[in-house]
Amino acid sequence: MPHVPSRPQRVAVIGSGAVGVISAIEALRDGHKVTLIDPSPPGGKQAASYGNAGWLSSHSVIPPAEPGSWKKVPKFLSDPLGPVTVRWQYLPKALPWLIRYLWSGWTPAKLEATAVALRSLLKDAPLLHRMLADEAGVGDLIERQGVMHIYLSRADFDADALAWSIRRRVGVEWLELRSDELRQRLPELHSRYTFAVLVEEAGRCRDPGAYVAALASHACSLGAEYVAERAKGLRVERGRVKAVVTDKHDIACEKAVIAAGARSKALCAAIGDDLPLETERGYHVMIENPSVEPRISFMASEARLVVNPMKGGLRAAGQVEIAGLEAAPNWRRAEILRSHLAAMLPDLPMPVPADRVKMWMGHRPSMPDGRPCIGTSRATDDVVYAFGHGHIGLVGSARTGRLVAQLIDGREPEISMRPFDPRRYL
Ligand SMILES: Cc1cc2nc3c(=O)[nH]c(=O)nc-3n(C[C@H](O)[C@H](O)[C@H](O)COP(=O)(O)OP(=O)(O)OC[C@H]3O[C@@H](n4cnc5c(N)ncnc54)[C@H](O)[C@@H]3O)c2cc1C
Repeated sequence: MPHVPSRPQRVAVIGSGAVGVISAIEALRDGHKVTLIDPSPPGGKQAASYGNAGWLSSHSVIPPAEPGSWKKVPKFLSDPLGPVTVRWQYLPKALPWLIRYLWSGWTPAKLEATAVALRSLLKDAPLLHRMLADEAGVGDLIERQGVMHIYLSRADFDADALAWSIRRRVGVEWLELRSDELRQRLPELHSRYTFAVLVEEAGRCRDPGAYVAALASHACSLGAEYVAERAKGLRVERGRVKAVVTDKHDIACEKAVIAAGARSKALCAAIGDDLPLETERGYHVMIENPSVEPRISFMASEARLVVNPMKGGLRAAGQVEIAGLEAAPNWRRAEILRSHLAAMLPDLPMPVPADRVKMWMGHRPSMPDGRPCIGTSRATDDVVYAFGHGHIGLVGSARTGRLVAQLIDGREPEISMRPFDPRRYL
């Protein structure tokens, strides 16, 4: 039975990526009047929610920085085309974030604490997404048939033992596949991959942009108003939020949600909260009508990319580039993804005609510790932060939306919010 709030309130949600639209739906469910504010169309190419790899991986509980990551820093700086890179020009600006990032994964205990927290956020996410998609009439976009991690050898998997042992301790189960079993499930894969792990609880989205657009339409059909304007700040008076200030006018509200992805930092700073939000830029390459269609999505650990057969073609997504919000994309990084794809799937016809190849760059909104910020601002409890999901924002958006609605109503959140409290950095 839907919860009925004591008093319906005007809720302004800034940002219509996966996090914003699901927060809007959950607030509408509670009877609030919701305005969704975004200068660009929901599910559009400007959003990380458009171009991600589409993994609904409830087992993605290991943050990006692990013990010993500091040893790789020289490579991050010297290899501009490696899977993780920091642009020299941006280094001075990124340095404080990078130090916190390395520190947050310094010990196995730190890693495990984050894994426990992320597990609480991500558990059951494929089911939650499927229910949302069904409601929005796009159930076919969410599949819950598992995803695979492929390895060149069993020894490569063993080298990842810390991460997998933590996953096991937080309740993740998987099947280990030897070469012949891997071949049966992924006959298209190059034979140099000889070991794999199948995580059956995970799911995948077959078109994240279309999914988010459908969720936004669903929010509007439930009564949300969509306003195509850019939020510039918030008007807070005597500890209460009064309005979201946009480039065109003020939108009056009693509660506001900041869900502007990697661009949330300036909005928080405008009400006095300086949070270490950085963009981990990522890329995808998409091949339309690829003629090779794996039945299951997989991640190649040595190349650090995900391959996902989607509605519009075969997508390979990955790469981490620390270069800020404004630098131009380096399309050579997307070409690397294409080369990996060709090397992994030998039957993929190469070269693919240019008009069938689409490339994209987007901004993961990343906190140093790999945990999102979900909680209220220091200026007022009326402003709820919901950003910083880094590599897990699509999968994590479903429960985040529910938590946002619970915070708006002052209800007891369904999980412990402490690990996600923005105050851990204030
Ligand atoms: C290459 C790549 C692969 C990824 N793969 C996965 C994956 O497989 N699974 C997964 O779970 N996650 C994945 N992610 C991460 C995931 O895409 C993000 O964490 C998630 O999309 C963030 O959602 P969001 O709603 O917070 O932000 P976004 O989707 O970026 O949306 C933010 C919205 O805010 C709007 N906005 C910005 N500024 C303003 C403003 N001032 N006023 C109003 N609106 C504003 C923008 O226009 C945008 O629409 C991947 C990311 C990348 C880059």
